[in-house]
Amino acid sequence: MKTANQDIKPITTKINEKGNIEIGGCDLVELANEYSTPLYVFDEETIRAITKSYKDAFKAYPKMKMMFASKAFMTKAICKIMQEEGFGLDLCSGGEIYTAKSADFDMKKTLFNGNNKTYEELCMALDYGIGTISVDNFFELAILDNIAKSQNKTVRILLRITPGIECHTHEYIQTGHLDSKFGFDLTQVDNAIELIKEEYTNLQLIGLHAHIGSQIFEKKVFYDEVDVIFKEIKRIKDKHNITLSEINLGGGLGIKYTENDKPISIYEIAETIIESIEEHSKKYNVEEPYLFIEPGRSIVGTAGVTIYTAGSSKQVPNGRRYQAVDGGMADNARPSLYQAKYTVEVANKPKEEEKEIVTIAGRFCESGDILAKDVNLPIIEEGDIICFYDTGAYGYSMSSNYNRVLKPAAVLVNNGKSDIIINRQTYEQLCENDIIPERLN
Ligand SMILES: *Cc1c(COP(=O)(O)O)cnc(C)c1O
Repeated sequence: MKTANQDIKPITTKINEKGNIEIGGCDLVELANEYSTPLYVFDEETIRAITKSYKDAFKAYPKMKMMFASKAFMTKAICKIMQEEGFGLDLCSGGEIYTAKSADFDMKKTLFNGNNKTYEELCMALDYGIGTISVDNFFELAILDNIAKSQNKTVRILLRITPGIECHTHEYIQTGHLDSKFGFDLTQVDNAIELIKEEYTNLQLIGLHAHIGSQIFEKKVFYDEVDVIFKEIKRIKDKHNITLSEINLGGGLGIKYTENDKPISIYEIAETIIESIEEHSKKYNVEEPYLFIEPGRSIVGTAGVTIYTAGSSKQVPNGRRYQAVDGGMADNARPSLYQAKYTVEVANKPKEEEKEIVTIAGRFCESGDILAKDVNLPIIEEGDIICFYDTGAYGYSMSSNYNRVLKPAAVLVNNGKSDIIINRQTYEQLCENDIIPERLN
């Protein structure tokens, strides 16, 4: 069955009677007028359709637990939606822990994950009652046990392992291959377990965690990942007499940024994973564990678009035409970080025939600040509203204040209503942490 990550546009996208693009029943041009631009627009129906697809696709596996990798897009409103949909949260910093707690999220349903959690963050995780910690390395095992002992607590942990699986995605977003900064190499797992058994007695090992990469289009890597993890569970049972009851396969399912992307259905991924678990649990005679997955991009990516206002333009003699917009690499780092491609439309003239090849440039002081190279669009005029699809994941969450440009606002649209979920930053907020030392005054 087809799922929303396989489409470029949010499921409610249409062209309304004014001839403008509308999402969640809201005209993008009117949203631009009301909230100004750049603006992140999130379609609630698309987010909920995807969470429902995930739940439905995995319902054949009774011990299923869904999580959202919050680094893709983390705000209090998203925490509320995830709580309502019955999802847990994968958190990877003190800031994400704080956000979840501030939204009254059920902290038992959270996992803290990351390759260099600080002492303070681990203390905070225990204070805030985080559900489980995915321990990434020996250093972390030692400090976490130390904190747990000092607070007289037992901490549920997973071991993050490097499964040695390569997926065909950009090098920067691969994580599961052997030469990776994340997780224990499989040859180090025995040593980690010995330490947990003998020394780190306040750590309770529950299961294994892996994550093979992001923007994945193949299902075979998930099949293989389950194989590697089950082999390891079997080995750990035989060698250490420890039965692990949870596995977490990470996230990584791809979305459709452009027509060239061919992401697979959530149902296909689920089928592959469940089949692989059934097969390998029989093969290795291991009881079926609780299964966690924690997608990020595929949950919020398709639901979000960014709208900009067209400003200056430049025709290079015998060269490209550049059209600048009022945002760029500080609100969407992905094009400059890893040459990410997007689908672009003009929200106030989506049907216009007249076309030209234009390059959409950002407004930041870097030549590399190009949002989309050589796209085919109607002739753009100053004031047109430019819509970038699929910016819901890793857009706002990677945003910065480069050039001291204010971070944009985000709205959640649904059924003709729009609600602010992130206010546009103000100049006061921009300077609030700046301090002029006495001697400079
Ligand atoms: C980033 C990350 C995810 C989410 O990846 P997506 O590609 O956004 O689905 C899940 N688990 C871990 C451990 C991650 O680091």
